[in-house]
Amino acid sequence: MLVDFHIHTTASDGALPPAELLERAAALGIAEMAITDHDTMRGYAAVADQVPPGVRLHPGVELSCVWGGCNIHIVGIGIDPGHAAINTILDELDEARQARAVTIGERLEKAGMPGALAGALAVAGDSQIGRPHFATWMVDSGHVADHNEAFDRWLGRGKRGDVKAYWPSLESVVGAVVTAGGKGVLAHPLKYGLTGMKLQALTTAFVAAGGSAIEILSGRQTDDEVARLRRLANEHGLSVSVGSDFHRDWQYGPTLGVEARVARDAPALWEQLS
Ligand code: AMP
Ligand code: MN
Ligand code: MN
Ligand code: MN
Repeated sequence: MLVDFHIHTTASDGALPPAELLERAAALGIAEMAITDHDTMRGYAAVADQVPPGVRLHPGVELSCVWGGCNIHIVGIGIDPGHAAINTILDELDEARQARAVTIGERLEKAGMPGALAGALAVAGDSQIGRPHFATWMVDSGHVADHNEAFDRWLGRGKRGDVKAYWPSLESVVGAVVTAGGKGVLAHPLKYGLTGMKLQALTTAFVAAGGSAIEILSGRQTDDEVARLRRLANEHGLSVSVGSDFHRDWQYGPTLGVEARVARDAPALWEQLS
């Protein structure tokens, strides 16, 4: 069985509109999935009542937060999209993204890239603005050769355009997911560059905040990484989740859909969704 609980659309920094994504998922035979755009459920909402037969689409989102000075992502699955708790945090995150974009723009302008904010806003259009929109503008304006260079030099972890000051706490975003009836999932735990000890501390804080599951497979990972994360989930009494973190077709990137068997005998998030 194919499942996928981490996918982006044009509502955030993905390339496929939500309806096209659903069509592709149906064609691939994905049985259960969630659209998890960054800090918005607008992509999900646009197609929630047009789901092709054979596919189960759960309400989802990927929320930005900060813990221990790191920008951490929490996926929420099975949230009631009309609940005040989720809408309050999404409004807060909308404002945070706008304010952060202004700060990123100012920093890039000071570094010799005039028009960065206006350019990134134009690239984003109606999408939830993020660093990839700045990266696209930087490529289009000739400041860098490609997205990789944009992140390596300007936008990636620890670089000038990596602005974390605006994100809410881990506790508040996991709390909002749980209050809104959803399950909190610690997204791609190996992508934060944490030491083993700090990853343990993050997982402990995530459990204390009310989190339910860990993504043991996110996009392309080795079998050893999956096994390590399965152990981490087990040690902390957490369920497991999986997702492609699909953004766009790209030869080195993940494709949609993950084989559910990768969970093995661990408790799987998708078995706990109503
Ligand atoms: P943001 O949510 O605005 O902080 O932007 C983070 C997003 O940027 C991630 O979800 C990825 O889609 C993308 N991203 C992060 N690091 C890189 C990188 N090194 N190269 C390309 N895209 C990246
Ligand atoms: Mn992204
Ligand atoms: Mn993420
Ligand atoms: Mn993601």
